[in-house]
Amino acid sequence: METQEQIFARDDNNYLPVFNRYKIVLDHGEGAYLYDINGKKYIDFLAGIAVNVLGHGCKPLVDAISNQAAKVIHVSNLYYTEPQANAAAKLVNLSGLDRVFFANSGAEANEGAIKIARKFAKSFSEDKTQIITAWDSFHGRTLATLTATGQPKYHKGFEPLPAGFDYVHYNDIDELAEKISDKTCAVMLETIQGEGGVYTPKDDYLQKVRELCDKNNALLILDEIQAGIGRSGKFFAYEKYGIKPDIVTLAKGLAGGVPIGAFICTEKVANALHPGDHGTTFGGNPLACAAANVVLDTVPDEKFLSHVEEVGNYFKNKLIDLQKKYPEQISEVRGEGLILGVQLSNSKKSGVEIVNECMKRGAIINCTVGTVLRFIPPLIITNEQVDEVIKILDEVFAE
Ligand SMILES: *Cc1c(COP(=O)(O)O)cnc(C)c1O
Repeated sequence: METQEQIFARDDNNYLPVFNRYKIVLDHGEGAYLYDINGKKYIDFLAGIAVNVLGHGCKPLVDAISNQAAKVIHVSNLYYTEPQANAAAKLVNLSGLDRVFFANSGAEANEGAIKIARKFAKSFSEDKTQIITAWDSFHGRTLATLTATGQPKYHKGFEPLPAGFDYVHYNDIDELAEKISDKTCAVMLETIQGEGGVYTPKDDYLQKVRELCDKNNALLILDEIQAGIGRSGKFFAYEKYGIKPDIVTLAKGLAGGVPIGAFICTEKVANALHPGDHGTTFGGNPLACAAANVVLDTVPDEKFLSHVEEVGNYFKNKLIDLQKKYPEQISEVRGEGLILGVQLSNSKKSGVEIVNECMKRGAIINCTVGTVLRFIPPLIITNEQVDEVIKILDEVFAE
């Protein structure tokens, strides 16, 4: 068998060098655990970046994928398939919106949402094109979605960027009130900011955003690619805040690990697009939709969602205990359900060092924006598994 060093070398020689990879070769998984090719076991509190919501090796998911693969993997969107019709009906039912489009990734879902919003606004006025997004947001890596992403570091070198994007500070309603006008086509926000450091909406921020959108005839696009699919403790995070968007986007957890993306919109918005206006070859293929149907039959269940909320509260309280124990290292604990962030406050150890030390001890966690430990585990984790990770974090902070 090959050693991991041989695999590192081959990958490093051939793969586009855009990822700083951790030096392990992962091989297989079971539940909330992953194993590398040397047989070392890791508890997985990243879930492939909020993707593996049902954990690894989930039997109903594996069965649905293998059964569907044996029947047919792909036929294109020139035809109907039962898995796609079922997944679309479930999403319409859960969202309270009317129409679904399936893509293959988060960026593609957001790209579709931006396109439909632009086309919809054109029916009011040719210059109603402004899209307002938030600083520190993350919406993807295609040209339009990286422009929507309010982080200049992702823009650098890729100019000229698509026109018409403006940025406001998340949670600053006055700034949005100043920038929004009848030229605004849409306001696009993550319901809970993930990549940017795990920030939740304050007080009635999202309700006020909704009101400002309505006043200015602008669409509200909520990006729930990371915070959706039960992660907040509700199937859609916006349910927590008592609002409904005009368009919501999903991806990451939607098919439990199989690539998929989706946007869901109201009938009114849907009417802006006609046959030929948008499309995809792979999007919504029967394989991805068969996997999505397992997620959509599992996660919205009330017991499943209250599990997420309970284990999330347990986890958050344990992180707050750590903050009390190490106040000079942790300044804040943020988040809802199983999207939690720990703000690091000193230079004793960098976020990446902490991640590496956790990995040595058998825990996979993540650091975002350099200073925030982000926890987005499979939604099936237990309090005992939270304890395992807390124990490792405690050791690392104590050092
Ligand atoms: C990951 C992410 C995206 C991009 O999804 P990809 O599948 O990587 O294109 C967009 N928005 C949010 C909020 C995300 O977390």
